[in-house]
Amino acid sequence: MIRYALICEVEHRFEAWFSSSADYDRQAETGLVECPDCGTTEVRKQVMAPAVSTSRKKETTASGAPDFDTLARQVQAHIRKNYDYVGGSFADEATAIHEGEKPHRLIYGETTPEERERLAEDGVPCAPLPGPFAPVPPKKAN
Ligand SMILES: [Zn+2]
Repeated sequence: MIRYALICEVEHRFEAWFSSSADYDRQAETGLVECPDCGTTEVRKQVMAPAVSTSRKKETTASGAPDFDTLARQVQAHIRKNYDYVGGSFADEATAIHEGEKPHRLIYGETTPEERERLAEDGVPCAPLPGPFAPVPPKKAN
């Protein structure tokens, strides 16, 4: 016997037992599988997520969205992949790009509070990354 989680065309969810998967296919094709709620024979198997034990449930939230840690790692990876690390010269680089002295590119790096103030005064578009989203700078190539 095999149990299938089924769903009908109007999303009623129910379970039914079959002697085999071929038995299910045959019954479904010939319209023998009926939704117990509305009686339709337009039913299909529910798409099942792999079973996840509660201790490993960190990867996703109930809505299926990545949880905060996963999201933070994704943001970090995105920045490392697409942005150039300029370290302590971020303020100068960002200003040069903003003023058109250097070609536009995506950069990340560190600033002092004074530099951050200057960037804001000059209207240089940049934003501090919240700690969890800030990537670990790549090792300096010496
Ligand atoms: Zn139904």
